[in-house]
Amino acid sequence: MIYLDNAATTRVFDGAVKAAQAAMSEWYFNPNTTYPNGVEANSEIEKRRRIISDAVGARNGRLVFTSCATESNNWVLGCCRKNAKGNVVISAGEHSSVYEPAMQLKNRGVDVRVVPLDKSGTIDENAFYNAIDENTTLISVIHVSNETGIINPIERLIKIAKTKAPRALFHSDGVQGMLKSGAPIDALGVDLYSASAHKLGAPKGIGLLYIKNGVNIAPFIVGGGQEQGLRSGTQNTPYIAAFAAAVSEYKKLTNRYNTNKIYESLTKIFTESGCKIIGEGNNSGYILCVCVPGVKAEILQNAVNPMGVVIGKGAACSGSHRGNRVLSAMGLSAAEIECCIRISTFVDTDCDEAVSAAKTILSVAERIRSGNVG
Ligand code: PLP
Repeated sequence: MIYLDNAATTRVFDGAVKAAQAAMSEWYFNPNTTYPNGVEANSEIEKRRRIISDAVGARNGRLVFTSCATESNNWVLGCCRKNAKGNVVISAGEHSSVYEPAMQLKNRGVDVRVVPLDKSGTIDENAFYNAIDENTTLISVIHVSNETGIINPIERLIKIAKTKAPRALFHSDGVQGMLKSGAPIDALGVDLYSASAHKLGAPKGIGLLYIKNGVNIAPFIVGGGQEQGLRSGTQNTPYIAAFAAAVSEYKKLTNRYNTNKIYESLTKIFTESGCKIIGEGNNSGYILCVCVPGVKAEILQNAVNPMGVVIGKGAACSGSHRGNRVLSAMGLSAAEIECCIRISTFVDTDCDEAVSAAKTILSVAERIRSGNVG
């Protein structure tokens, strides 16, 4: 099988599986107890937090473990606004785990401003400038688009934001960007940054929120006061162990992985065959959104699957019935969107295999067009 839907989730690294097993069978004690075994379990968690923090360049803030990035994003949108007046600015390219809580705020009467994208898929910087004013309290702009792989210029956007709303908090959804964009979190200058482990070779069900030193955010889940009082609930020690192991493995493999070579090879094959790459520009290199003219993505996806090629067709959680909000914000028509497949690679993707998968996709597309499939 050639798995090319890594933006949806990644295969769990063997080392991450082993790390989770060790945590379950060896240091399974509740890390919040005060006897030595619990204290040791707690110190094992802190070791993993440091490993992740060093790997992702997050020394100017703390990492709080959550159950997933959806939780981290909901936390930011739900809690940065408590008792705060003013407006919230997000981009039209946000994942639904930012967009939907923002829409909930809007329904409750909050002034939520959605900044359009340009054709390349990045946020429209002029409109971004105009959307912010001295009453802006929270800004959320996705780092790397889960639909197109396009990287938003977060450092520049923060500079723009600070000129108009110096006290506004700047959050970025870094699920597709953490490690994969190459930018350390501290260097981005964000106040808050969400990430998810299952996009990096760890299991589903663990995420984090980076909170820059000096930034105060109320807890979203309250109870026993775990995670420095910021996220109650007994910590998921096996998955924290797996998260750290996966991040370390990723860092090792990334030296061997040539993101650009795969991205460029695939871009060349698809464009030479008359397909359109959606959102060409500064791309993370891991996600390629391809419009295959005249072929519905769902039919193509299902037709290549029995041939051992697994591809996506837009965000796994956007649901087939909802259409694709982000691609339509980039100006694509409904007919074009229906024909967009998403190919996403990871550090364990082999370039030759990806190229051979692309050839399979194109030949199946040709058969579908000529009425021989589906
Ligand atoms: N944000 C982005 C950009 C994503 O791609 C995803 C998952 O696809 C999420 C948030 C949600 O992450 P999780 O599955 O950890 O809730």
